Amino acid sequence: MTSTSRPLLNRRLAEFGTTIFAEMSALALSTGSINLGQGFPDTDGPEEVREAAVRALRDGRGNQYPPGPGVPELRTAISAHQQRRYGLSYDPDTEVLVTAGATEAIAAALLALLEPGDEVIAFEPYYDSYAACIAMAGGTRVPVTLRPHEGSFRLDLDELRAAVTDRTRLLLINTPHNPTGTVLTRAELAAVAELAVERDLLVVTDEVYEHLVFDDAEHLPLAGFPGMRERTVTIGSAGKTFSFTGWKVGWVTAASGLVTAVRSAKQFLTYVSSGPFQYAVAEALALPDGYFTAFREDMLAKRDLLAAGLTEAGFEVFRPAGTYFITTDIRPLGESDGFAFCRALPERAGVVAIPNAVFYDHREAGAPFVRFAFCKRTEVLDEAVKRLKSLAG
Ligand SMILES: *Cc1c(COP(=O)(O)O)cnc(C)c1O
Repeated sequence: MTSTSRPLLNRRLAEFGTTIFAEMSALALSTGSINLGQGFPDTDGPEEVREAAVRALRDGRGNQYPPGPGVPELRTAISAHQQRRYGLSYDPDTEVLVTAGATEAIAAALLALLEPGDEVIAFEPYYDSYAACIAMAGGTRVPVTLRPHEGSFRLDLDELRAAVTDRTRLLLINTPHNPTGTVLTRAELAAVAELAVERDLLVVTDEVYEHLVFDDAEHLPLAGFPGMRERTVTIGSAGKTFSFTGWKVGWVTAASGLVTAVRSAKQFLTYVSSGPFQYAVAEALALPDGYFTAFREDMLAKRDLLAAGLTEAGFEVFRPAGTYFITTDIRPLGESDGFAFCRALPERAGVVAIPNAVFYDHREAGAPFVRFAFCKRTEVLDEAVKRLKSLAG
C-alpha cells in the first residue's frame, strides 16, 4: 500500500471532513441569499475598542510575540471582569490564560485534560468544534440530548446522571447554549455541580455568550457553585462579547493547576496570538456597564424582530433566552427534514439557515430543527423577514 492509497485524513477526523457552513455560505453567494447561517455580526464592535487596537499597533505593543499566558494588562482585565460581574476571584498571573479565541481554549483544554478513552459528556446539539476536539484528544463523546419542552430545549437531569460512567472524565457545558438559546437555570446548574462533585468530574464550561441573556434569564458561571472552583475551566470570548470575531481573543479562567495544564497544550498550538488586539480587549473589558446593557438590548430587539418574522412565516419558534441564534421547528410548514429544507431555502426564499441535525450524533433527534442567526443589521433582518413571508403563502 502506498502512502496515498490510505485515506489521507486520519480516522479520528474522518467524520468531520467538511462543514455545512462552507456549503451553505457558498449557496448564499451563488443565490444572492441573506446569510443567517453563520453566526458573526455584520457590524464591528465599539469604535473606541477598534481605536485602542490601532493605538497598540502604532505604539509597537504586541507586534512581537506577547507573553505565553497573555499580556498582563489583559489578564488583569479578565480577572477584574470575573470579579466585577460574578464576584469570582482569579489571580491574573496564575489563574488566567489568553487563547486564540474560545476555539483554542476548548481545544487546549480537551487536549490537556483527556487521556485516550476518557468519556466526555456534552449536551446535544453541541457546538461543532466540541466533537472534533474530543476526537483529536482521543476521547469518546457521550451526548446528552436537550429536548423541546414548553417552548425551550431543556436538560433532563436524570439522563445526565445516567450518562456518567467510571470512564467519564469531563463534563463539557455550554450556557447560554448555541444553537438552542437555552440558558441553564440556577437549579439546573446546581444539579450539574452536585453531580460533578459527587462523581469527581472535571468541567469545561463554554460561556462565550455570557453577556447575551434576555428577559428574566440570568447567566450564572458554573465555577461559582459549591465545590466547582477547583474543577472548572471557564471559557470566554472577546469575539462574541465585543463583536470582533476576527480578532480571535479568548480566555480561560480556572484554578492554577488547571490553567497550567491547559497552557501546556496551548503553547504547542498557537503559542501566542493577537498581540495588539489583546491590549484593545483589555480596554474593552473595562468598559462601563452601559456598553454591556446596550449590546444586550440591541440583540434583544433583533431577537424579537426575527422571532416575530419567523412565527409569521409559519415556523415554530423557540424563543432564545440567550445567544444570537433562534432554533425553529419546520414541521408546522409541512417539512420534516432540516437538511433538505435548508438546501432548498435559498432558492425558495433567498435566505440561508443551518440544519441543527449537524450538531447531533442522534441526527433524527435534530432533523426538524433549523437555526437562524440574528446578529445582523436591522435592515438585513427586515429584508430576511420579508422574504421568509413567502413560505407562509
Ligand atoms: C463562537 C463560539 C465559540 C468560538 O469562539 P471564538 O472566540 O470565535 O473562537 C465557542 N463556543 C461557542 C458556543 C460559540 O458559539
